[in-house]
Amino acid sequence: MSVSPHPPVRGRFAPTPSGRMHLGNVLCALLAWLSVRAQQGVMLLRIEDLDSARCPSSAADMLEADLRWLGLDWDEGGCTGTDQNGETCLQSRRTKHYERILHILEEKAHLYPCFCSRSELHAAQAPHLSDGRILYPGTCRALTAEQIAEKRARHAPALRIAVPDETIRFTDLCRGPHAENLLLECGDFILRRSDGVFAYQLAVVADDWEMGVSEVVRGSDLLFSTARQIWLFQLLETAPPVYAHIPLLLAPDGRRLSKRDADLDLSRLRLHFSSQELVGMLAQLCGLTESGRPVSPQELIPLFSWDKVKKEDIRLPSAFYQKV
Ligand code: GLU
Repeated sequence: MSVSPHPPVRGRFAPTPSGRMHLGNVLCALLAWLSVRAQQGVMLLRIEDLDSARCPSSAADMLEADLRWLGLDWDEGGCTGTDQNGETCLQSRRTKHYERILHILEEKAHLYPCFCSRSELHAAQAPHLSDGRILYPGTCRALTAEQIAEKRARHAPALRIAVPDETIRFTDLCRGPHAENLLLECGDFILRRSDGVFAYQLAVVADDWEMGVSEVVRGSDLLFSTARQIWLFQLLETAPPVYAHIPLLLAPDGRRLSKRDADLDLSRLRLHFSSQELVGMLAQLCGLTESGRPVSPQELIPLFSWDKVKKEDIRLPSAFYQKV
């Protein structure tokens, strides 16, 4: 019997079900799926409903229905399925996993309570990075035990992790080499919010680790998270996945699409297009095909290669925008 020398690629699509998927989510789901299927890997669907206040209960079911309509399937996870360990892939039900990872991180790094509110950080004129994010100025890094007790009596703190002056380098499957200095470009970041909800950065690393994810495909709006996630993997003494940060879709005027663009969510798009028309259009826009003719995801598998996928954000043609 021949044994494959490499374990299969394990990729995932990890949407936040805060509403119907928009076209950018569809492109992400399509490319994550194509990359896995082109490598005969395992596809996981993780529902990132950590912040349950933002995620209506019906949205995850709709999301699954929309993926099926598009012709995209998954092997593990979803609303009712499990991961390779037989555990749920709904983040809202994975708190015990996040607690476990938090305990490990407590042993490996300096975690501290942080009482700063967003408005205080703005008022304190914390340094802003080029993309508008605030670099945490370290206000609560060295509070004394008395100061912590006194502040804790007034309000609950978030939990931050202190980052070292270290540069993380990685090669993105889509965008090539990338480097980021944790101290200068990320700053100490939050692992658990003051309301007790675990932060995205911790949950995503805990989940990608425990679910054995070896390939992450997501929008380039999350590129800034990757250095800190790779660093968390290093603290956990485990290899990080490889990453592909895909171009964002922009309106014809260059504005970023978001879930707020309800006109481009699938509830509307499904009225105007067949799934194959949408998939064909996205395949052309992102560089996989030339013609943009209607096509199924299955037919795109042999055509898929990261070399073809565009690196720059993609403006939607105004003809498309006018049709919906
Ligand atoms: N849940 C995130 C989103 O919907 C994606 C997280 C990830 O892929 O790491 O934008």
